[in-house]
Amino acid sequence: ALTAGIVGLPNVGKSTLFNAITKAGAEMANYPFATIDPNVGMVEVPDHRLARIDALIPAKKIIPTTFEFTDIAGIVKGASKGEGLGNKFLENIRQVDAIVHVVRAFDDDNITSVSGKVDPLDDIETINLELSLADLESVNKRYARVEKVARTKDKEAMAEFEVLKKIKPVLDEGGNVRSIDFSEDEQKIVKGLFLLTAKPVIYVANIAEEDMAEPEKSEYYQIIQDFAAKENAESIAISARTEEEIAELDDEDKKDFLEAEGVSESGLDRLIRASYHLLGLATFFTAGGKETRAWTFKQGMKAPQVAGIIHSDFERGFIRAEVMSFADLDALGSQQAIKEAGKLRVEGKDYLVQDGDIIEFRFNV
Ligand code: GDP
Repeated sequence: ALTAGIVGLPNVGKSTLFNAITKAGAEMANYPFATIDPNVGMVEVPDHRLARIDALIPAKKIIPTTFEFTDIAGIVKGASKGEGLGNKFLENIRQVDAIVHVVRAFDDDNITSVSGKVDPLDDIETINLELSLADLESVNKRYARVEKVARTKDKEAMAEFEVLKKIKPVLDEGGNVRSIDFSEDEQKIVKGLFLLTAKPVIYVANIAEEDMAEPEKSEYYQIIQDFAAKENAESIAISARTEEEIAELDDEDKKDFLEAEGVSESGLDRLIRASYHLLGLATFFTAGGKETRAWTFKQGMKAPQVAGIIHSDFERGFIRAEVMSFADLDALGSQQAIKEAGKLRVEGKDYLVQDGDIIEFRFNV
């Protein structure tokens, strides 16, 4: 499964956020056998469509889809030179698919910050610099070697060398690879380089509880937002402390609490959703029978591949997919009405599954 890794300087609220995630995960009823890796927290992906589908096509239970966060041990200045837990830190980031970069955006004299003051930009740059130095090292290692092979007119090496030539000057300036424009072919090459700064990132401003109702008014959050926008990255404001407090509440109590705070959705739910989209993930549903269930697939997957997410037999024996869209079901109100309106589609092996599809797979066993 794809996972987003939580990084940030010491004392910014990473553990607090990760605790909120594991507590929220522990509340999940449907996954008693979830893997117990202390660094991985699994959460349900909130999706209002599930309840609506279950109301129209009743089943015994509702099973949301899940998303994983990985806690990545603290970084220090000099990580790229292997200081402290540096190497392990970089190695752990290499394993994740997206980065959730937590930045301190609250004042509290009792909690010391690494730079001695609350300075979101400086904090962000400290980490980003380590990541870009590590990437520069990887790129430099390949550069001369690939250049040499490219001179023999080797097509692959020539293509890679073009990419390295684009990347190196950006890293030399302490920049990141994700901000570079690549063609589709180049993107494939970039992927194979496993660079840290090529991974998509969400900046999470850990704001004070007082700022929750109007995060835009937090000066720190504004700074983080502006920085993220320049990088074409996402940013969201959450109060990690509040998330930890409400993670164990049941849905009703959580809703009451959030309403009293003047917000409509928990910060954790927003983070889950943002991470999910950042990774190009989408949701399809199965309905009727025992359960109404949401499943995660990667945008661009075709029907047989998606069938394989449920069971490998479904992919191997794939015959066709019977598909209706959530939007149609929601509008027409029943399976019968969907059929009468000719909105139940029969799709073959080349069908590109869409977010919100409700699918019944037909397959040979
Ligand atoms: P980490 O080192 O990044 O994992 O940071 P922690 O999650 O351990 O947080 C460091 C300290 O900051 C702890 O004492 C937290 O209780 C505190 N903290 C975290 N979030 C907030 C917050 O929103 N407001 C305040 N005042 N303190 C916070």
